[in-house]
Amino acid sequence: MAILEDPLRLVIGDKAAKPLGRALDLHTVGDLLRHYPRRYETRGELTDLASLRDGEYVTVQAVIAKVTSRPMRNRRGSIFEATVTDGRGQLVLTFFSRGRQDWRERQLAPGLHGLFSGQVSTFRGKRQLAHPDYELLDVGDDAARAAAEYAAEMIPVYPAAKEITSWQIAAAVRVALDVLDIQDPMPQAIMERHGLCGLADALRGVHRPIDWADVRRSRDRLKWDEAFLLQTVLAQRRLAATAYSATPRPRMPDGLLDAYDARLPFELTVGQELAGAQIGDEIALDHPMHRLLQGEVGSGKTVIAVRAMLQVVDGGGQAVLLAPTEVLAQQHFRSITDQLGPLAQAGELGAAEHATRVALLTGSLGAAARRRALLEASSGEAGIVIGTHALLEEKVQFADLGLVVIDEQHRFGVEQRDALRDKAGDGRPHLLVMTATPIPRTVAVTVFGDLEISTLTELPAGRAPIFTHVVPAAEKPHYLERVWERLREETAQGRQSYVVCPRIGGDSPGGLDDDRAGQDGGASSGGPDGSDTGSGDTGSGEAEGSGTGGGGPDAENARPSVAVLDLAADLEQGPLAGLRLAVLHGRLPPDEKDRTMRAFAQGSVDVLVTTTVVEVGVDVPNATAMVVMDADRFGVSQLHQLRGRVGRGRHEGLCLLVTEAEADSQSRQRLDAVAGTLDGFKLSRLDLEQRREGDVLGAAQAGRRSSLKLLTLLKDEELIGRARADPALARQPALAAAVRVLLDQERAEYLEKA
Ligand code: ADP
Ligand code: MG
Repeated sequence: MAILEDPLRLVIGDKAAKPLGRALDLHTVGDLLRHYPRRYETRGELTDLASLRDGEYVTVQAVIAKVTSRPMRNRRGSIFEATVTDGRGQLVLTFFSRGRQDWRERQLAPGLHGLFSGQVSTFRGKRQLAHPDYELLDVGDDAARAAAEYAAEMIPVYPAAKEITSWQIAAAVRVALDVLDIQDPMPQAIMERHGLCGLADALRGVHRPIDWADVRRSRDRLKWDEAFLLQTVLAQRRLAATAYSATPRPRMPDGLLDAYDARLPFELTVGQELAGAQIGDEIALDHPMHRLLQGEVGSGKTVIAVRAMLQVVDGGGQAVLLAPTEVLAQQHFRSITDQLGPLAQAGELGAAEHATRVALLTGSLGAAARRRALLEASSGEAGIVIGTHALLEEKVQFADLGLVVIDEQHRFGVEQRDALRDKAGDGRPHLLVMTATPIPRTVAVTVFGDLEISTLTELPAGRAPIFTHVVPAAEKPHYLERVWERLREETAQGRQSYVVCPRIGGDSPGGLDDDRAGQDGGASSGGPDGSDTGSGDTGSGEAEGSGTGGGGPDAENARPSVAVLDLAADLEQGPLAGLRLAVLHGRLPPDEKDRTMRAFAQGSVDVLVTTTVVEVGVDVPNATAMVVMDADRFGVSQLHQLRGRVGRGRHEGLCLLVTEAEADSQSRQRLDAVAGTLDGFKLSRLDLEQRREGDVLGAAQAGRRSSLKLLTLLKDEELIGRARADPALARQPALAAAVRVLLDQERAEYLEKA
């Protein structure tokens, strides 16, 4: 008899245990039994060979179609090839040998059915597995095992590795299950209330199911355990967070905040009032605020942030505002200093009483300006410091950092947040993170642990609507002419437009490489297959000029996407001749970017041809039209963000999504979804559904995935909620004990991070 904590070697022997430990990091019976099948093959049902991807380790069920054997050309030995099929596609199994391979030829006879396991590659246009391991399903050298296998209709397929095949894992699991002796930590009452099966049953059912119902039942129980674990970890984090102290910054009468409110040219919306009051109350407490402010694009989050920052400045502290791009940091700096007027001119003639200063710190500052900004931050002269990743550097210090504000948080990882927080000396600063790319609550609490959430749902009154249309350039080429005419009409009425392209173009070395895909780990881009290009942060510096979302067509037959420099030249000569055009992209020197952005904001540029540098936050109310070229190459949330740049003033906004994607394609459906709703929450859900968990959680969460194997945060939202809501759980010492092993590991990781 064995328990979950027993070392594997005691149960399956040293020889079998070694590769499991080495290749898959499975050391105990529990490790092995929580290594769940990736999927199940139904006996006789062949694997869809078209779904295989190069580089993957796979196990496929297929039928041998034909075999060939020939001597090697330049060396001694032979090549034996077996072609297997799923009835449609083919896969070549290649075996090299020093000698003849007659025995293999006898073994792998056409018509036989087997499981084949190896790494997929493509050779001369054919998919192949070189030297795969295999197990024939019709015959077997180990008669007893074959008989047992045969009885089961469903064959588990495990995540395997080079050293160890799926069926070797299955064999080890079989032994472990046979000797397993488990005390189910979950009380009968809870199992009954939630209709869950026992743990021993669940483990057996997930590894050796009788049918799909068995799989579902088993997974339900195992997922439930994971949801419970998740809730326990989160509860613990919340508890840990309350252990930190922070300097309270209660609202002071007649300070900068009051003066700012008096200067505001508009009334706050009800949502802004509410969120503002919540935030104001929390930063008045002696433990750190941890709040996420989510709000639709254009809902006016910045004002809330500025008001919180001023409350902290009134309380003698400093506030820092981190923005993901230089363009956005500069814009914040400009608009906040404008709004504050004399309130931000401390030390200057005409400054208001209690005035403070606002400093800007970005990577592109000249040495002198940089020194001044650093000094203003460290001396405390600047009450508000605005900047990009440059703020995270060690040299940046504050006299008394009371509040960290992170704008467009989906562009940042947890690490960056923590880097800023660590600059507060003793205790922790209050934290406000803002996003226009909302994520579901369950995901949010997991990603942010102890974050409270405020949501702005309404837009300020008097905001004109945005109309979005898909322009099918392939089917209706003359529509494109109409697009440019529309921009001329906007210009004729004194308004401005954006033309957004996925790529910079020009003579960039490497051609396409400024077209880097989805650099942000958040929900605003990323391929439909959840390609792992997102690193979870923009650690390489500013996020500008890059970042076209995924969703593009397969690389093979794609023409390069429309490029800023090429299109700008074409438009200038052709359809937009005579208008004042300017280009903006990440390769421009920062001061030129700033100059161009200013010119556009002041209305001396009619049409700005640009990359996604304008994706987040840019605010030019007189810009009313946006054309997105190759719109299908952007992610859903990213398009929503982009279009949020227009319709910011009194005039209605127009967004034209130009695409060559075919009418019924998935890409077109995504574009239609964007055109069909202005609800960013709906769209971000759509975006999330197409991604994998790791992309949602970002790099910083990778460690945790080890204990969340079956649970998917988005699909299992309801289950996770139930696990939290069951008050009986909190009083279950037995259950708590059962997760302690996992939890300890969690906690260790968490503490390391903290
Ligand atoms: P976002 O939430 O997308 O960051 P911003 O903070 O950039 O939005 O605000 C968008 C625009 O709306 C800004 O020009 C801002 O000055 C303006 N604004 C904010 N709040 C209000 C309000 N209550 N009434 C009118 N305009 C507002
Ligand atoms: Mg904003």
